[in-house]
Amino acid sequence: MYGLGILKGLGIVFRHLLERPITRQYPEEATPLQPRFRGYDFALMEDRCTCNAACAKACPHGCIDIVTHRSEDGRFVFDKFDIDVGKCMVCGLCVEACPYDALFMGAGFELATYNRWDAVVHKDDIANRDRLSAYSRSPLQGHAVERADAPSYYQPIKGVQKPPPPEPKAP
Ligand code: SF4
Ligand code: SF4
Repeated sequence: MYGLGILKGLGIVFRHLLERPITRQYPEEATPLQPRFRGYDFALMEDRCTCNAACAKACPHGCIDIVTHRSEDGRFVFDKFDIDVGKCMVCGLCVEACPYDALFMGAGFELATYNRWDAVVHKDDIANRDRLSAYSRSPLQGHAVERADAPSYYQPIKGVQKPPPPEPKAP
C-alpha cells in the first residue's frame, strides 16, 4: 500500500517519543559498570604477591615492567612494578596468569592523560586498592567468595553455581 512505509516510520518515532530517554549525561552522571568490568586502574595485593613476574610474561603487549632483587631474608622484592596502561588492551591475561590472585583489574576507566608517560602506573599507585573488578581467574569464578581470606571484592557471580566436590578416587 502506498505510504505504508511512512506510517511504519512514524509509528516508530512516536513509540520512542513516549519512552524514557536512556542517554546518560556523562561525566556529570556516573555510568553504572558491571562488577566484572575490566578497568585500567589495576590493583596489586602486596601481601599475596611473590614477585614471580608471571603477569609480566603473560602480557601480550609487554605492558608490565618488573625488576626485583633478593632481600636479606631470601625473598624477592620489587625495585619496579610498572604497568603501561596506554598500551594495555584490558584483556585480563595478566590477572588470569597470577597464581596467587594478587593482581586485579580495576573498576574504573577514566585515566586520560596529556602525555604517554603519565599513562604508566607504578606499584605504589596500585598497591592494595579497594576499587576492584570482580574479574578473576576462571577457577575462582562463582565460588571464590567461599575462600577463608576472601575480601569483599569477591562476589558470587549470578547464575554460576559452585561446582560439586570431586568424587573420591577408587583405591
Ligand atoms: S590486561 Fe592484557 S594487555 Fe593489559 S597489562 Fe594485562 S595482559 Fe597486558
Ligand atoms: S602479581 Fe601475581 S603474577 Fe604478578 S608478580 Fe605478583 S604474584 Fe607474580
